Amino acid sequence: MRHASLIPVLVASLLASTAFANEGFEVWHSVQKGDTLGALAKRYEVKPRDIKRWNRIRGTRLKPGHKLHIWSQVAIRPTRIIEHTLRRGDTLTRLSKQYRTSPEKLKRLNGWRRRPRLVVGNVVKVEVQGPENPSVARGAPQSGRLVNGEKLPDGPGYQVRVQGNAYGTNDTVTLLMTCLPKVKKKWKNAPEILVGDLSREHGGRFPPHRSHQNGLDVDISYFHNVRPAPDYFREATPGTLDAEKTWFLLKTFIDTGRVDYIFVDYSLQKALYDEAKKRGAKAKQLDQWFQYPNGKGMGEGLIRHSPSHKNHFHIRFIHDQDAAS
Ligand SMILES: [Zn+2]
Repeated sequence: MRHASLIPVLVASLLASTAFANEGFEVWHSVQKGDTLGALAKRYEVKPRDIKRWNRIRGTRLKPGHKLHIWSQVAIRPTRIIEHTLRRGDTLTRLSKQYRTSPEKLKRLNGWRRRPRLVVGNVVKVEVQGPENPSVARGAPQSGRLVNGEKLPDGPGYQVRVQGNAYGTNDTVTLLMTCLPKVKKKWKNAPEILVGDLSREHGGRFPPHRSHQNGLDVDISYFHNVRPAPDYFREATPGTLDAEKTWFLLKTFIDTGRVDYIFVDYSLQKALYDEAKKRGAKAKQLDQWFQYPNGKGMGEGLIRHSPSHKNHFHIRFIHDQDAAS
């Protein structure tokens, strides 16, 4: 049984290295009546001529029912409706941020015409991203498991190192699919980000990691100032770290409001701290984000030292039953 399960993993990683794999998120779009090349190109943020090339189409006519192979530049996620029980402090803005939706969508979904009165204990409907059958993070990152884990696919600007070790909660997968491509969008020549381990399919013990057990942890490569860009987890020093791109990526994750911790070796924190400061971060934000300059033993800051994080950083997302379910 053990061996049988290795085979799909190998096939998947071989496929991941084919020429197209990282042009985007792989989508099979079934052509509907009224679909046009222009509209599909807009939806998937690609060029009409790319859709034609990928599908060997001449002319501009699309046949309804035809399945088009598209390498989307945006994460296309299934959605489902869940019920959220209101808590103290919930506002439209806060709910929108927590579930990555918008006040307008919340209003439409709940049939609210104007600003609603949000009463603690009442239930509101929220649209969340992820398949019909939700995943659940159980227990702690060091002693938990993952129910219904979802596999992170390759996407534009990043590559998953070992597909069989890339299972997370739906929320983790959504966050990664949304944030990782942003670097390549900003810097066309940015090297591919390498995504290391998340969790195993059902979570649980995952040596040599101590955590990575419930679908909320992920290891990600730093950007380096060396050329050619390394295609493995290379140890960074303050001199070789590309602090600009690395900070941009960390900040993209932090801005989602879903990050619990980011583990970064203390020796690399100053370069990132300086970069954040250069980009206009206020003292209060720096305090909140960085353990530096308080020393690596201090339990402060979202970005913290943890041994063996010189060649990758490690994000732990917030364990929130509502957002994960
Ligand atoms: Zn890790």
